[in-house]
Amino acid sequence: MRAAQDSSIYRSFVAQNPTSRAHIERARPVIPDGASRSLLNHRPFPFCVERAEGIRSTDLDGNSRIDFQNNYTTMIHGHGHPQVMQAVERQLARGTSYSAPAEHEYALASHLCQRIGSVEQIVFNSSGSEAVMVAMRAARAYTGRTLIGKFEGAYHGFYDHAMAGHDDLRAPDDPVRVGAPTTDLAGLPESMARDVVLMRYNDPQAVRDAVERFGDELAAIIVEPILGAGGAIPAEQDFLDALRAETARAGILLICDEVITLRHALGGAQGHYGLEPDLTTMAKTIGGGFPVGAVGGSREVMGVIGGGEHGAFANLGTFSANPISMVAGLETMRLLDADAIARLNELGERVRKGLTDRLVEHDAPAQVSGAGSLFQVHWTEASLRDGRGPATADSDRTLLMFLGMCNRGVQLSMRGMGALSTPMAAGDIDTLLEAFDGTLREMRADGWLA
Ligand code: PLP
Repeated sequence: MRAAQDSSIYRSFVAQNPTSRAHIERARPVIPDGASRSLLNHRPFPFCVERAEGIRSTDLDGNSRIDFQNNYTTMIHGHGHPQVMQAVERQLARGTSYSAPAEHEYALASHLCQRIGSVEQIVFNSSGSEAVMVAMRAARAYTGRTLIGKFEGAYHGFYDHAMAGHDDLRAPDDPVRVGAPTTDLAGLPESMARDVVLMRYNDPQAVRDAVERFGDELAAIIVEPILGAGGAIPAEQDFLDALRAETARAGILLICDEVITLRHALGGAQGHYGLEPDLTTMAKTIGGGFPVGAVGGSREVMGVIGGGEHGAFANLGTFSANPISMVAGLETMRLLDADAIARLNELGERVRKGLTDRLVEHDAPAQVSGAGSLFQVHWTEASLRDGRGPATADSDRTLLMFLGMCNRGVQLSMRGMGALSTPMAAGDIDTLLEAFDGTLREMRADGWLA
C-alpha cells in the first residue's frame, strides 16, 4: 500500500487549495498550527473558508462545497438562515452585550423549558465546555461528593474533568468495563484521573459495577444519548434504562449531555428515549450559530446555582446569555419544530442507507453509524456499539475519504461524520452519494480498498 501523500486524492487536494495552504503557512508563526481550534488541523493542511451561505461554503481558492459538517452539528438551518439573520440584525441595533439581565434570556429559557420534559430551570454560558463544567460543579455541590463517571469515547468539551481519559480507550475485545483513566493528555493534573471513573458505553453491567464500587463517591455520571464525537453511536435502550435506575438508587445525579443530540427529537434525544436526567447540558444549535452553552434541570437541583439550601455557587461569564446568541438561538429553535426534525431524520436514513450501499458495492472495509440526522463512515470492521470500535479506524483511509469528498465539493468532518441541515433536500443527498462513489473509485484505483 502506498503512503497517503502519494495518492492522487491527496495530490489533487494540494493542487486545488494553494491559497489555503499559503494562509496556514502565514498564520503558523503567530497561531500554533495556524488555527486556534486544534481540531481543525489535518494533513496536509486545512482548507480555509472565505464565506458560507445556506448549505454551501466557499474557500479561499473559490472551491464551493456542500457543508455536511455544519460546524460540528451547530448550523442546523445552514448558514445565514434569513429569519435567524433578521433576529440578529434587529438585536445588533439594540446592543450586543449588557451588564444587566434582559428579556432574550428569559425567552430562550422558557422555550427550552417547555420543550424538554426534565428541564424546569436553565442557566446560560458561552460554550458547551462551560456548560459541562457547571453541570459537574452543580452535581458536586448538590451531592457533596467528588467523583464524576463518564463513558469511554465520549467528548464532553475541554474542561479538565471532561477531558480526563479522553484518549484512554481499550481494545474492542478487552473485557475491562470500569477503570480510572490514565492521564493521557499533556497539561492535565494527575488528580483529574483520580476524580474520574471511566465506563464502557452501551454496557449496563459496567454501570452496575461502577455504582457498586464507587456509588457513595460518585456525584454524577454524564452520558450522551448518542455518542457524538465518539462515533455517532446511538445508546441502546436497556443501557440508558439501567443507567437511570442505578444512578437514582445510589443518589448519583445523571447528566445528559445533549450538546449534539438535542436535534434528535423535539424534547432532545432524552425525549426520544424517555430518559429523565437530573441535569441536561446544551450548546451548538441553541445559539443559532453564535457562542452558547446551557445547563438545565429540576428546580430542586438547579437550586444550588446562585442560591439554595445545598450551598450556592455562582454561574459567571462576561458573555453568558449574551443577547445575540439568545435571539439567534430562540429563532433557530422555533424553526426546529417537529416537522423539521422528522424531515431531517428521514433524510438521515437516506444518507446512511446510501453510504452503506456504496460501501457494499465497492466491497470497502468500512461501515456507517448514526441516528436521526447524524451519520459517520468508519474505516474499520470492529463492532460499533461503544467508543472502542471507532478508535480502530484506519487513519489514512479516513483522511483520504475526507480529502476525496472535499475535492468533489462535499464537506464532512475529518473523522467522516456528517450532520444534516434543514435546507438540504434529497438532491443534495444524491450529490453526497455521487461524491462518495467517486471517492471510493479513486481509492480503489490507487490501491486503498485492497
Ligand atoms: N459536549 C458534547 C457532547 C460535545 O460534542 C461538545 C463539543 O463538540 C461539547 C460538550 C463542548 O462544547 P463546546 O465546543 O461548545 O465547548
